[in-house]
Amino acid sequence: MISVRQLYKLQKLNDEFRDNDEKILKLDNADELKKIIEESEKTFSRKKEEIQKLKFKTKDMELNSQSQSDQRKALEKKLYDGKNNNPKELCGWQKEIEQINSNIIKLDDHILENMQDIEEKEENAKKYDQKINELRNDYKNKVEEYNALREKLINNSNEIKKMIEDHRAQMDTESIEIFDRIYDQKDHLAVVKLEEKSCGACYRSLPEDIIKKVFHREFQLCNNCGRILIQD
Ligand SMILES: [Zn+2]
Repeated sequence: MISVRQLYKLQKLNDEFRDNDEKILKLDNADELKKIIEESEKTFSRKKEEIQKLKFKTKDMELNSQSQSDQRKALEKKLYDGKNNNPKELCGWQKEIEQINSNIIKLDDHILENMQDIEEKEENAKKYDQKINELRNDYKNKVEEYNALREKLINNSNEIKKMIEDHRAQMDTESIEIFDRIYDQKDHLAVVKLEEKSCGACYRSLPEDIIKKVFHREFQLCNNCGRILIQD
């Protein structure tokens, strides 16, 4: 004899297994955060490159300033060593020195600006790096959490699977075949409770004789949707 209670229990276990599976699929493995971190790391590299370029540029300016300063020193030596008294040449050197002075002032101003800029950018990059580190920590925690949850759900899944197997082993082949067929065909709802005098799935009123048999725990199908009926 087909036991409707057994079928109902099997359906509950099946539902539990499906719910659990869905939870596993929906777990957040923190992939989004991983992408954000990877993007941030690229941005950080660009920031570092930019700073490096600025440093090289500034170094060139410093060398240029030094070379102009050496040039000035050489001119000043010629100007004041008294070996040349040609006013025109002396005047030309004087002008050249003035031009060099002006160049050096401009260069030094620029160097100073760059150095402040570098300092600011380095400070900024440091903060950015700290932020990435925080994200990395977050990611690490999330992955750990994900792995722990996943393991728990998989264990759960195995336990339910075992319970289903045990339960099916207790049932006769005919019951299992009927249940499996209806369960697959009827959207994973094979056994359905009566609601008043109607089927709890399709809500169609049922004939009295069917209701009576269901009350006596007899195996009965809804004459409309074909599901197995059970008394609440
Ligand atoms: Zn029905």
